[in-house]
Amino acid sequence: MAGRGEIALNAIQRRHAKVSTGDAVPVIRFIPPDEFNLALLTLELEFVKKGTKSEQVDAVLLANQLRKRFIYQVMTSGQKVSFEYHGNNYIFTVNQAAIEGQEKSSGPERGMISNDTYIVFETSNQSGIKIVNQREAASSNIFRHKEFNLQSLGIGGLGAEFADIFRRAFASRVFPPHVTNKLGIKHVKGMLLYGPPGTGKTLMARQIGKMLDGREPKIVNGPEVLSKFVGETEKNVRDLFADAENDQRTRGDESDLHVIIFDEIDAICKSRGSTRDGTGVHDSIVNQLLTKIDGVEALNNVLLIGMTNRKDLLDEALLRPGRLEVQVEISLPDENGRLQILQIHTNKMKENSFLAPDVNLAELAARTKNYSGAELEGVVKSAVSYALNRQLSMDDLTKPVDEENIKVTMDDFLNACHE
Ligand code: ADP
Repeated sequence: MAGRGEIALNAIQRRHAKVSTGDAVPVIRFIPPDEFNLALLTLELEFVKKGTKSEQVDAVLLANQLRKRFIYQVMTSGQKVSFEYHGNNYIFTVNQAAIEGQEKSSGPERGMISNDTYIVFETSNQSGIKIVNQREAASSNIFRHKEFNLQSLGIGGLGAEFADIFRRAFASRVFPPHVTNKLGIKHVKGMLLYGPPGTGKTLMARQIGKMLDGREPKIVNGPEVLSKFVGETEKNVRDLFADAENDQRTRGDESDLHVIIFDEIDAICKSRGSTRDGTGVHDSIVNQLLTKIDGVEALNNVLLIGMTNRKDLLDEALLRPGRLEVQVEISLPDENGRLQILQIHTNKMKENSFLAPDVNLAELAARTKNYSGAELEGVVKSAVSYALNRQLSMDDLTKPVDEENIKVTMDDFLNACHE
């Protein structure tokens, strides 16, 4: 225990702070910002002092233990962290300590470990320890983010739909293969988001892709696939899955998950009766897509997310179990959803004091029944155009604009609604 006026630091902390025992050190109070929880902590394994011999460490378990042991502690990038686990003493360096939604500031990255902190391990060294199941660690992070704040991701009003998608399509990916094998279930490999245009299907699919896959997902568009490559469409569909195929061939069960988003999937997967092109192109593409997710040569490492405004046009064969089996309707936002969407799209101008104090978003949400997210975004854009127009002098368009005076008012929004 440290006495009054003393600070206790272990050897690693002393080395990091470049002090020795008995040194006098100045201390400044650190006031953390409101949002100080770490979203992401990347730890590089420096070395392991071995007690027992255990060559493989499960990333999920290791991350859970780390979170427990260091909960509410502040981590700073560059810092060394020492951690005892199953008789081994691990020394990590913090490579990245990122706070969600915050721009990188000039100072060192730092934040507090919370239950939601997603921990990634990097092992570039020769420690002789292999950290396995990184991917499961990533998905279990999604699990913890079940109540993910979609609004902070720029998606308004689709919380219930997201929870539904999560349970039906993600949950099976959260658990390591040995658990799902025991349960005898197969991962969901296809999902369909359907509903009116402009309701956020693409936003949602992208977000799901990023969460599961960690990178920007591949997005292809049905009509483009069809028109651009007439005669070559099948090759295209093959190319689409090429990365996933390579990955599965070379890494097997360790392969990454590949999320492929197919916008306007109805364009190529129309039910047979409704295609009158007589070429059979549609049929063969549908068949090809199906063999990739449900055939003998089916891939285990893909999630195909199809999107359509016209579910009724889709080939039934595509919707059977094992195919695009999870179908979620993304409908027009309700009043609360509209409020969230309006907040998202006015957030920036509000931050920069361009939003007049008389603007009542709740009232606008009440007045915009049956507007889609895209239309609400359009209303905001149009309201801004009214405000900007007021600042322009018609006699002299080159006259410099007085930035301070730009204010988007409630009237601008009301005019925009009536357009
Ligand atoms: P869809 O794929 O359903 O046709 P998109 O996701 O492409 O619709 O939406 C188009 C644009 O409209 C988005 O880029 C976004 O700016 C806005 N938008 C639509 N729905 C929402 C929503 N739920 N929350 C926030 N913005 C939305």
